[in-house]
Amino acid sequence: MTTNLSRRTLLKALGLGAAATLVPALTRAEALPHVVVVGGGFAGTTASKYLKMWGGTSVEVTLVEPNTTYVSPILSNLVLNHQRTTSDLSFDYTHHSTVYGINMIHDSVNAIDKTNQVLTLHSGTTLAYDRLILAGGMDFVDIPGLDFDKVPHAWKAGSQTNLLKDQIDAMQDGDHFVMTVPASPYRCPPGPYERACVVADYLKNTKGFVNCEVTVLDANSAITVEAETFGAKFTEYGVNYRPNIVISSVDSDTRSITFSENGGATQTLDAEVLNVIPNQKAAKIVFDAGLNSGNWAPVNPLSYESTQATNIHIIGDSQATAQPKSGHMGNSQAKICADAVLRSLNGMDLNAAPKTNTACYSPVSATHASWLTAVYEYNASTQAMQLVPGAGYPAAGAPSTENYSQMFNWSGNLFADTFA
Ligand SMILES: Cc1cc2nc3c(=O)[nH]c(=O)nc-3n(C[C@H](O)[C@H](O)[C@H](O)COP(=O)(O)OP(=O)(O)OC[C@H]3O[C@@H](n4cnc5c(N)ncnc54)[C@H](O)[C@@H]3O)c2cc1C
Repeated sequence: MTTNLSRRTLLKALGLGAAATLVPALTRAEALPHVVVVGGGFAGTTASKYLKMWGGTSVEVTLVEPNTTYVSPILSNLVLNHQRTTSDLSFDYTHHSTVYGINMIHDSVNAIDKTNQVLTLHSGTTLAYDRLILAGGMDFVDIPGLDFDKVPHAWKAGSQTNLLKDQIDAMQDGDHFVMTVPASPYRCPPGPYERACVVADYLKNTKGFVNCEVTVLDANSAITVEAETFGAKFTEYGVNYRPNIVISSVDSDTRSITFSENGGATQTLDAEVLNVIPNQKAAKIVFDAGLNSGNWAPVNPLSYESTQATNIHIIGDSQATAQPKSGHMGNSQAKICADAVLRSLNGMDLNAAPKTNTACYSPVSATHASWLTAVYEYNASTQAMQLVPGAGYPAAGAPSTENYSQMFNWSGNLFADTFA
């Protein structure tokens, strides 16, 4: 049986409904607009926090996320070479409920009734919204035969990251590590190349293996970002880089991958460790709600409102504005979106000139990292976000120990702005 979770029952479910002192607040809350954010990653967690920081008591905010702990994919390649653990990269939502007064619901959204503005959660509960912000991240395009329990992607962090780490740790000298790079656009443009460098460095310089081979099968025609940096590192580590790859299938039991290269005949490669990062698309809930066009979700970049449905906004990796799919960018979009939602709830005009920015730091060994950053602004004539022209963007920094240490300052700030 499904139940409609009204604001009164929501407070009761949170253990607050019986408190007599809450009655005036409850009465006030009855009239408040309710914004529901779906997905507690970089984009959704930031959106819920800033909605409450800026909207205060004028808005009720609920964050729906199935997990009580979020493991950051950012820095997760450092788990593979034992410079960090997944615990170091784990965050909870305590501050969101205790400091900011956000209603936390640990459940997932199964369906969206766009007409009546009601969500159905996995538990069967229904939840009404005035505004909905979808921040479900991304999903993978299927590859025949691929079983992530045997051939990890490690592109959503947590148990997948540790599975890949354990497989790499079990490698012997002379073993073959094969990984794939998805076709653009995908989550974290430098991330796969960074991973190849970290693993090659770990096998060679930490484990002292001289006969291991690292092969990168890239769906793109060339290294997509920081080509000079990663190209030089691949040469230094002896990484076997192969562009223009189309994967046809994977045998997860034998860890072999079948593909074509440059449009040629199919071939198969065996590996002791196979790390397949498939092509990507918007989160499942976006597809289920019919909010995609192709693989991603079109939105108005002034508000991140879907172009296919009113009162539903889509931020983070799922959206299709052609801005990079990064945690820093998701955090940036979340603030534009929170501002736009609050403005429109209050009958105000949207900010007509939003700017966003992104940064990715890439460890290429246990001591050196490079970086890449970009700023985007709204172009009123194209109605799209574009790289800020003439400002030297995108800008990049070569691998250094100084950048390696600054990587932790940058990520510490991003983690705090999102989760603290
Ligand atoms: C190795 C690696 C390195 C990276 N390095 C960087 C970097 O240097 N800089 C950078 O900015 N970014 C980096 N990224 C990219 C960054 O991690 C992602 O772009 C970012 O996590 C996207 O944020 P998001 O909020 O859109 O999605 P996510 O962080 O994936 O969050 C989505 C959340 O939605 C929840 N969810 C999904 N469906 C539902 C549903 N139906 N109901 C309720 N909840 C749901 C999920 O449980 C999840 O918690 C890196 C990624 C990787 C893999």
